[in-house]
Amino acid sequence: MRYDTIVVGGGPAGATAALTLAKAGARVLLLERRRLPRYKACGGCLSRRVERLLPFDLNGLVEEQITNLTFTWRGRNPVEATFSEPVAYMVWRDRFDQALCDRAVEAGVELLDGQVVRAVRESAGGVEVDLGGRTATADFLVGADGARGVVARDLFPDRSQPMAVGLDAELPLTSAGEAVLKGRVIIDVGRVPGGYCWAFPKRGVASVGVSVDRGAAKRAMPCLTAFLSAGGFSDRKAVRTTGALIPVYHDGTGPLHRGRTLLTGDAACLVDPFLGEGIYYAIQSGQLAARAIVRAGSHSGDLQWYQEAISTEIAPELEAAGRLSRTAHRASWLWFQVLRRRRGVIDLYKKVLMGEASYRLFEDRVWAGTPRPVAMLFGVWADRRSLSDRHQEVGSR
Ligand SMILES: Cc1cc2nc3c(=O)[nH]c(=O)nc-3n(C[C@H](O)[C@H](O)[C@H](O)COP(=O)(O)OP(=O)(O)OC[C@H]3O[C@@H](n4cnc5c(N)ncnc54)[C@H](O)[C@@H]3O)c2cc1C
Repeated sequence: MRYDTIVVGGGPAGATAALTLAKAGARVLLLERRRLPRYKACGGCLSRRVERLLPFDLNGLVEEQITNLTFTWRGRNPVEATFSEPVAYMVWRDRFDQALCDRAVEAGVELLDGQVVRAVRESAGGVEVDLGGRTATADFLVGADGARGVVARDLFPDRSQPMAVGLDAELPLTSAGEAVLKGRVIIDVGRVPGGYCWAFPKRGVASVGVSVDRGAAKRAMPCLTAFLSAGGFSDRKAVRTTGALIPVYHDGTGPLHRGRTLLTGDAACLVDPFLGEGIYYAIQSGQLAARAIVRAGSHSGDLQWYQEAISTEIAPELEAAGRLSRTAHRASWLWFQVLRRRRGVIDLYKKVLMGEASYRLFEDRVWAGTPRPVAMLFGVWADRRSLSDRHQEVGSR
C-alpha cells in the first residue's frame, strides 16, 4: 500500500489534514485506532471563530448555542455576561469528529477505522507505518494521534511537555438544571491551584468537568465532586466520567517536523493553556500541515514552512494564553476580582471567542487597564519581565 500521505488519528487535526490534502488532489490514508463514531473525553465547546476554519457549516451538529457566560469563585459570587449572539457552540465529539471524517472520505480519503498503528519509521524517501502484520508507506506522515501518540513516541523521542489532567462527566439534567444551564457556560475557579471546573449544556445533558495541573491530579475528583454538589446540576448519577491528559502548550512548541513527518493538534501540544481549548488549534494545525505538505511537493520535500507557520500563526496566541493562564490559574482570586470589576475584560474575551481579536490584544488591554501594582503582582506568576515590560509599553501608548 503506497500513498502520498498517511495521517494517523481521526480526530479534528487528522480528519482536517486528510480532507485538505485530498481536496488538493493527494492520495491519502487516514488511520484511526477506534471504530467511528468514537467517544472522546471532551467538553465539546467550540469557540465561535471555528466557523471561519471549517469548510462546512455546523448545522445539525450544534447541541446548544452559548450566549451567557457565568464565572464563579468556588461556586459563589457569580459574574454574569449575556451576549446578543452566540459566542460558542456545544457539540458531541463523537458526532463532530465523525462529520469531519465523513467529509474527508467524500473528498476521496481512504479511511481505515478500528486500525491501530503499532509503530512508524522513516524510510528512503518516505515513511513506513506498521499496522500489525502489514506495512503502509507514503511520501509524508501526519501525526494527529493525540496526547502521547505513537508518531511523537517513535520519531520525536526528545519531545517532553507538561500535561494537565481533565475529568469529564456527563449528567442528565433535571428540568431545573436544564433551565439554569440553557445557553449558558459556567466556569468556576478557586478550588484548586492551576485548575478550574466547567459546566457545559447539551440539550438535557451537562458535560461537567475539571482541569488541573498533572501534579495535582489527585485533587481532580474531589474538586469535581464539590463542584457538582455545589452546582446542584442533577440529582442523578453521571452517565460516564472519563479522565484524559490535556497536552497544554508550554514555552514553545519544540520541533514539529522531522524529515517527512509533521505533528499536529494534541500530538503537537497545541492546547490553549488558559481555557483548555484544543479543537480550534487541532483544525488550524491540520490545515497548515496539509498546506505544508502540498508546498513540500514542489520544494524537494522540505517541511520547514510548517514550523514557521505554527510559529507565526499559532504560537504567539498560545504564548499570550500561557501568560494569562499563569496569572489566572495561580492567582485566581486576583483574576476573579479583575473579572468582577471590569466587564470590559469579558467583552473583549468575547471578541477572542468570535475571532475578532487576538489573545495578544486581549492581554494588552487587560494589563493596560489593570492598576500597576496589581499587574506587577500578576507578573510574579506569569512571565515577570515580559509582563512588566508589556505593562509599561502598553501604558505609554
Ligand atoms: C476532559 C477534556 C475536556 C476538553 N474540553 C475541550 C473543549 O470543551 N473544547 C476544546 O476545544 N477542547 C477541549 N479539550 C481538548 C480537545 O479534546 C483536544 O485538544 C482535541 O481533541 C485535539 O484533537 P486532535 O485531533 O489533535 O486529537 P484527538 O481528538 O485526541 O484525536 C486523536 C485520535 O488519534 C487516535 N489514535 C491515537 N493513537 C492511535 C494509533 N496508534 N493508531 C491510530 N489512531 C490512533 C485516537 O483514537 C483519536 O481518535 C478537552 C480535553 C479534555 C481531556
